[in-house]
Amino acid sequence: MEKHVRRIGVFTSGGDAPGMNAAIRSVVRTSIHMGIECIGIRRGYHGLINGDFIPLDFGSVSGLSRRGGTMLYTARSEDFKAKEGQAKAASTCKLLGLDALVGIGGDGTFRGLLCLADQGLSVIGIPGTIDNDIACSSYTIGFDSACNTALECIDKLRDTIQSHERCSVVEVMGRRAGHVALNVGVACGATVVLVPEQEIDYETDVVEPIRRCRLSGQTHFMVIVAEGVEGGAYGVAQKIKEETSLDTRVTILGHVQRGGTPTSRDRIAATYMGYEAVRLLAEGQSCRVVAKQGNEYTSFDIHEALTMTKGLDPQTYTVMRTLTGIQQ
Ligand code: ATP
Repeated sequence: MEKHVRRIGVFTSGGDAPGMNAAIRSVVRTSIHMGIECIGIRRGYHGLINGDFIPLDFGSVSGLSRRGGTMLYTARSEDFKAKEGQAKAASTCKLLGLDALVGIGGDGTFRGLLCLADQGLSVIGIPGTIDNDIACSSYTIGFDSACNTALECIDKLRDTIQSHERCSVVEVMGRRAGHVALNVGVACGATVVLVPEQEIDYETDVVEPIRRCRLSGQTHFMVIVAEGVEGGAYGVAQKIKEETSLDTRVTILGHVQRGGTPTSRDRIAATYMGYEAVRLLAEGQSCRVVAKQGNEYTSFDIHEALTMTKGLDPQTYTVMRTLTGIQQ
């Protein structure tokens, strides 16, 4: 029998990402349009355990799309990983009259949703992470904004490394995935791009491209390193210094990449995904992650989504290797 959804709880969880607010707005407004009530759970699973919520109506999400961060705050909750925490969260849902939840976050957030589905709730996940590392979706909310923020900083750095004829080693976010590094590297015309997915041969991947650029008359060099690369930016910079004697400086971009006004790409993806999440719930579906595949928005079973893996885009990787002059 199809389950009729009357009240949805929406929350953000894990690391924040620009565009999460646009997704919240979309969930709220789509719910209202479909005659479903919506409330906001603050601080992710932590808020679900503690009953930390706010009512959300049409006006309360007005002007939200352009705002960075998340109006619902976000958190990581160790307590929720235990059965007692999950039971408390489920009883909060019961108390609040919730029959469905929309969680905006990454894989961990989706795993958490499955625990609440076991307690009888309908659940939908929306991929919100700057890392673009959700396997079932070609795009995750926040990725474009993070890349643009990194790019803006790197363009500024380039001015000064050009003046001083230096080598800049910039660490961008991505502990397990190099999507940000690869895209930013291609966009800024980096000399070298290093990602955690690929083993590094320092001679071929780092020293040779720098030497080649030097021989062609270049006097400054931009090296982009993903956070998860062994040794990190400092380790890479040390090796470059030893091998080339270049004046090498490290910049860790860090959390600045998580903030700022979301780009149009993020606002649009977030808005579509929020709409799709509520549409699925209204249709009586549960345990699904909204995903983007090409230009289409679709969804995957959460269990299936969590078994999927995602590599770097091979075309972008080949373009990067070609333009940095590395033999394929
Ligand atoms: P990010 O991409 O930023 O890491 P994420 O959603 O993967 O986002 P996590 O910190 O892994 O971030 O997970 C968010 C929260 O989801 C955790 O703090 C925890 O409360 C819950 N969670 C994670 N894994 C599980 C699990 N296996 N079972 C139950 N809950 C989980």
